[in-house]
Amino acid sequence: MKYRKSRDLEGRITQATVSREVDGWFISILTTRVIETPELVTSPVEGIDVGVVRTMTFSSGAEPLCMPTLSAQEKAHRLRLQRRLSRRKRGSKRYESAKRALARNRAREARRRRDFLDKATTAIVKRSPFIAHEDLKIRNMTASARGSIDRPGTNARQKAGLNRVILEQAWGKAFRMFNYKTAAIGGAVLKVEARCSSQECSSCGHISPGNRPTQARFVCVSCGHSENADDNAAKVIAYRGEVLLAAKRKAAAGHAASGRGANVGLGAALPRRAVVTKRQPAQPAPCKA
Ligand SMILES: [Zn+2]
Repeated sequence: MKYRKSRDLEGRITQATVSREVDGWFISILTTRVIETPELVTSPVEGIDVGVVRTMTFSSGAEPLCMPTLSAQEKAHRLRLQRRLSRRKRGSKRYESAKRALARNRAREARRRRDFLDKATTAIVKRSPFIAHEDLKIRNMTASARGSIDRPGTNARQKAGLNRVILEQAWGKAFRMFNYKTAAIGGAVLKVEARCSSQECSSCGHISPGNRPTQARFVCVSCGHSENADDNAAKVIAYRGEVLLAAKRKAAAGHAASGRGANVGLGAALPRRAVVTKRQPAQPAPCKA
């Protein structure tokens, strides 16, 4: 039988799952192996700002991640498949075959993106096991925008929304990957408040809608700090992550001291890092989103 091996196997095979998807059979193999204990984790928190132009922007200044979405040609192909389906009589043989063709196309693209995100998140977690990102209500955002396979909206709206939907789903997937990948090496995901993060200065903490002269630019009206708006937001998110991590460590240490639990979690064995000190805590200025 012909098959394609997506990666090398490491360790002892403990389980194999065969599944059938619309475009073929897949086997996923679970193995166990001993991994080295991670070294003491002292890396700073990596703040991640997600967006449409850049899929992810990093507070560390690492190269922003741009997930491949559909090219113009692939988008046209997808829309052609969707249009074909919408023209056919529901329940007919031709309808079912068009539906299968669209499902195969979706499945192939979804696997390609999952693979990309899998590799990308592994590399990011290797860089820093503490990941801060905003608490986005991704599920709600995608549910409303997705529509259905059988009842696509107008072409214009679909074209504009297609890659946006793909990106929103990608953020959610990546966030879930961060959860188990950071946990595996003694790190953590810090889900921070999303409020005002785009209006807050990463240098002095001043919050104002006036800090955003344009969509792409951040210029602080208080201290004059100026940089790309996504870079600024990623740093704000990292700062909030640092604050959250420090609070969690403090709570865990208190827990351990009072003898209420042996499992203190969150790297209580790790050296305490000082929270970024160059800035004052954010002023409780009103935020007009
Ligand atoms: Zn400032």
